[in-house]
Amino acid sequence: MNQVRVRFAPSPTGPLHIGGLRTALFNYLFARKHDGKFILRIEDTDQARFVSGAEDYINEALEWCGILPDEGVGIGGEHGPYRQSERQAIYAGYAENLIETGKAYYAFDTPGELEEIRRSFEEKKETFTYDAVTRKDLRNSLNLSETETGDLLEDGTPYVIRFKFEREETITMKDLVRGEVKVDSNTLDDKILFKSDGMPTYHLANVVDDHLMGITHVIRGEEWLPSLPLHVSLYKAFGWKKSMPEFAHLPLILKPDGKGKLSKRDGDKGGFPVFPLAWTDPGSGQVSSGYREAGYFPETCLNILAFLGWNPGTEKELFTLRELVDHFDISRIGKAGAKFDPEKAKWFNHQYLQRKPAAEIAGLFQNDLEKRGIEADIGLVRKIVELVRERADFVSELWEHSAFFFMAPEDYDEKVVRKRWKEQTPGIMKELVAILASVDPFTSTNIEMTVKSEAEAREWGMGAVMNPWRLLMVGTLKGPSLSEMAEIIGKKEVISRIERGIGNIETRLSK
Ligand code: GLU
Repeated sequence: MNQVRVRFAPSPTGPLHIGGLRTALFNYLFARKHDGKFILRIEDTDQARFVSGAEDYINEALEWCGILPDEGVGIGGEHGPYRQSERQAIYAGYAENLIETGKAYYAFDTPGELEEIRRSFEEKKETFTYDAVTRKDLRNSLNLSETETGDLLEDGTPYVIRFKFEREETITMKDLVRGEVKVDSNTLDDKILFKSDGMPTYHLANVVDDHLMGITHVIRGEEWLPSLPLHVSLYKAFGWKKSMPEFAHLPLILKPDGKGKLSKRDGDKGGFPVFPLAWTDPGSGQVSSGYREAGYFPETCLNILAFLGWNPGTEKELFTLRELVDHFDISRIGKAGAKFDPEKAKWFNHQYLQRKPAAEIAGLFQNDLEKRGIEADIGLVRKIVELVRERADFVSELWEHSAFFFMAPEDYDEKVVRKRWKEQTPGIMKELVAILASVDPFTSTNIEMTVKSEAEAREWGMGAVMNPWRLLMVGTLKGPSLSEMAEIIGKKEVISRIERGIGNIETRLSK
């Protein structure tokens, strides 16, 4: 096999959907697996759909996930430029070449004329397509004489160039995911290759560029499968059949219930992002949420994406990018649509929150604390992270599981007070203060052993000590191990919380 060269070829028409990022990932994995090159090409020939900021968004999303191109926009390479708008001069010659060889033709029908024909078809309850049958009655260079066509072109009459599909042909295509696919040419319309604004359409530019850039495998979303007959026919028409890339169309990404394609609306409704990064629409100012801003790790995002249509064939679920490269195999991509599961997405994040180095999570949590006006020593934050992270899916949830480390409770859970605060409790808590004061050094093991043996000696049930003590430390019965918590909070603060708490609760009860 020649050196593998694959490309990710997004159109900058808005933020990259996670489906687009999955296409990028699968191309990247395939390139890495085969020691090939991963190319980023920006397909911006459709000026009407161009959205400013979309290209930067694509770059930022790829960078965030670590799916870095080897060649392309922003990097360079031997096959540049890689932005199609900068390659404009290349395409016209290829379109004209097809006209010369009789594989394409000029069509002069105005939008108004086509609209009228479309309407007349609708009246007959038929759908108009510009194809091998209808083109006989339309204004194109197949019906006009050479002189008429020449005059129209010379006069600057607007035209498009259309591909000429022959009738009664079976177009056979090979797809690495679907196997052999056959299409009857009678069902195809003569797609526009070149537009009156002097720009190629996606189809022409895409095929010409894949050829010129030496692309060996085209891996893209299933929505492009209907274009494959045209693309394969274009390769043949240009005489490039031998060097035609292989194709793999990735399955659709479906809504969580499996009913239809996943859309931005599903994300809004279900409260989960469908974009890797948040995006503010430059026109409406509307903001769409992103995985990054919602607190997902890039590692999580990669795992979510990898499992959308692919599986390793084993029970293993957590993969680093490196491991994905090692395990990736195009033959393990399924044809069936892949349901997006937002709960599984959270599960992946939970797993990474547990597995990432505590120091890294502590750094992130420290930033969160700073925003809350709390300055805490990183060593301390790290200990807290180790104690509470198993309860959280996101860094942003660490606060709710650990706020009591940083602040004494302002209030005490009413129900717990009623149930657990007995007549003898204030006495026990006062004695607990004395017991804790004697613990030295104030380590969790020492605290635990001392409190336990002293409680036994006094014949207190453990519940009679631990529940009110926790209530005074946290305000509720939640939280991790009391002795570990006490060590982190420190002797002075622990004692002050108990003493203040006894007073507060007693005053409240006496009212
Ligand atoms: N520009 C197309 C897109 O936006 C690329 C399709 C392809 O990969 O051929 O998805």
